[in-house]
Amino acid sequence: MHDKSLRELATGLRNREFSSSELTRHFLDRIGQHDSSLNSFVTLCEAEAMKSAEAADRLLAEGDGHVLTGLPLAHKDIFCTRGVKTACGSKMLDNFIAPYDATVVEKLSAAGMVTLGKTNMDEFAMGSSNETSFYGPVRNPWDTDLVPGGSSGGSAAAVAAGLVPVATGTDTGGSIRQPAALCGVTGIKPTYGRVSRWGMIAFASSLDQAGVFTRSAEDAALVLQAMAGFDERDSTSLDREVPDYAADLSASVEGLKIGLPSEYFSAGLDDTLRDVVDQAIKEFERLGAEVREISLPNSGLAVATYYVVAPAEASSNLSRFDGVRYGYRADNPVDLEDLYKRSRGEGFGREVQRRIMIGTYVLSAGYFDAYYLKAQKVRQLISDDFRKAFESVDLILGPATQGPAFRLGDKLDDPVSMYLNDIYTIPANLAGLPGMSVPAGFVNGLPVGLQLIAPWFAEGRLLSAAHQYQQVTDWHRRVPGDFS
Ligand code: GLN
Repeated sequence: MHDKSLRELATGLRNREFSSSELTRHFLDRIGQHDSSLNSFVTLCEAEAMKSAEAADRLLAEGDGHVLTGLPLAHKDIFCTRGVKTACGSKMLDNFIAPYDATVVEKLSAAGMVTLGKTNMDEFAMGSSNETSFYGPVRNPWDTDLVPGGSSGGSAAAVAAGLVPVATGTDTGGSIRQPAALCGVTGIKPTYGRVSRWGMIAFASSLDQAGVFTRSAEDAALVLQAMAGFDERDSTSLDREVPDYAADLSASVEGLKIGLPSEYFSAGLDDTLRDVVDQAIKEFERLGAEVREISLPNSGLAVATYYVVAPAEASSNLSRFDGVRYGYRADNPVDLEDLYKRSRGEGFGREVQRRIMIGTYVLSAGYFDAYYLKAQKVRQLISDDFRKAFESVDLILGPATQGPAFRLGDKLDDPVSMYLNDIYTIPANLAGLPGMSVPAGFVNGLPVGLQLIAPWFAEGRLLSAAHQYQQVTDWHRRVPGDFS
């Protein structure tokens, strides 16, 4: 059952080939059997999952329910889940049981989906390799000596290994597209504001956006449809109608103008990966797309800009973890100052502390103009580059990463080389644009992804272009040998 798409599983449920309870049991058993080699799950909700599956079966028996009713899913452990531990990869929240559901969780549960558990992630979503988690690294199902990418590495690895057919993620600078690329699954980050951030633990609020990992664009369309939409509890969520993504998948690529940013094809890109992207471009041309070169002249400034803006927002968001209200509290503090210092010093890991220090520095009175304000101006230039590009093209195509997955430990002591991992994904976050990574081939036996970026609110165009590509290629159907 784990080799089927969501659409096929939904049909199987309706045709009584299997029940939601059987399906749920099957995936829970696979997690039990395989996750010790991956560490992709941090919490399993076995009893609750079986209960929701039974409820879904009753609905289905009456001929009711949503297309997603009875289908299993996992949530990145950044989404609050009522009554269930929500630790965000951190010792700071290791004792935190969320008192409410995030909007994303609420919506997918309301559609009848069955939550199997919570997936491992980089601490507070800071990382590109899933090695900063308090719960240990996640391993890549294609080669367990390699990283799965981060920060939503648990979700990407779980979907790639067939431990769950769909998992949620968040993308602040690439945390859906980068691990999707390195694990060989489909990942979409919608337009900023398309999906509610309510109940999603905040990292950098002007960049964070929820999305999903699935095997195919068609599956992503079904789930995104149920996740997206206005939420009055999130003041940045956008009050715009959500189109019927699944119904629009058949839109042809014929005549679609695709831009290739010259800056994304320059030095630093692995040669074999470049060949993979070239093959994908040819596929789109065969499908009738018109491909042309474009320029995003300020994209070279994106990583530096991001590493001012994101830590600044993180330092502010993470100030709430003070050892007083909830989360980790140091033992036997001598006074309030000691309580703050030791709770934060012991509760946060190294990378999170580094971000808090960078953020506090760039926001300090003496450096605010030189760093933070400057970064906001460059952010606008990056956004303007895209606005201009989209005057002449409908979609932008490029690599999602510079190369395939790297070895665990390789970049852990070199933060700058780790930060450079997201060189192709960060620009879309700074501009708030929707982006997607689609499996496009292999480099040294490891999956790599093709990145598609669309104008604001054009997730539908992204999904249909990816779907058309997946009709003529089978990269998204490849599964890692040990998990077939
Ligand atoms: N790797 C980037 C970072 O560490 C992006 C993470 C993310 O998108 N959450 O900040």
